[in-house]
Amino acid sequence: MNTKRIAALQELIRQIKEKILAIEQMRPGSLSEQFNVCGNPNCRCKDPNHPKKHGPYYQISYTRKGKSTTEFVRKEMLTNVKQELKAYQEFKKLTDEWIDLSIKIGKLRRQEYKKNKK
Ligand SMILES: [Zn+2]
Repeated sequence: MNTKRIAALQELIRQIKEKILAIEQMRPGSLSEQFNVCGNPNCRCKDPNHPKKHGPYYQISYTRKGKSTTEFVRKEMLTNVKQELKAYQEFKKLTDEWIDLSIKIGKLRRQEYKKNKK
């Protein structure tokens, strides 16, 4: 009875592994847009009435091994970086599901073990 449920959960894990295998590049972090002013007092970014700041500039911030980092992202790389961020979120979601399924399997196995002992 539990054996069937365990097999079904194992099948779900197998599907998760397949999805994880399809992931190529990934990176953690969040992307943000920045607008800056420069040092030139006559620049459009310092216009008293209609200041037009420079940008947008893109940067990615992330924390790895307790160290937070911010990196500048070139506009040409934006699409790639967005894909990598998405892939990382997907990876996290899939590994979370995998862990949850494993916990469920563990519980079912314990139940099974107790039943067989009686
Ligand atoms: Zn300027």
